[in-house]
Amino acid sequence: MERYSVEVPNPDYWQRQINCQEACPVHTDARGYVRAIAEGRFEDAYFIARGPNPLASICGRVCGAPCEAACRRKELDQAVSIRALKRFVMDRFPTASG
Ligand code: SF4
Repeated sequence: MERYSVEVPNPDYWQRQINCQEACPVHTDARGYVRAIAEGRFEDAYFIARGPNPLASICGRVCGAPCEAACRRKELDQAVSIRALKRFVMDRFPTASG
């Protein structure tokens, strides 16, 4: 008799569906800071990007951006410029960034 592995969705399951955050080595909530930037909440965006990553401003320049490679927006047109947006917001708070 065939057996199927079934995963009952729980919060961890839904968390893993966030491709950009799942792909990021430090699991940054890129979706969160991109939304905050879009709403003009730059300080909030800074804290979301900086939270899990003390080197956020450096990553905004040199990270290989696996988040963008995993971005679902690509299915519509092109990936969100997650790394560039990180650099934008980190540069707004140069004295506070790592
Ligand atoms: S640019 Fe790098 S550090 Fe920043 S969210 Fe994407 S993968 Fe993570």
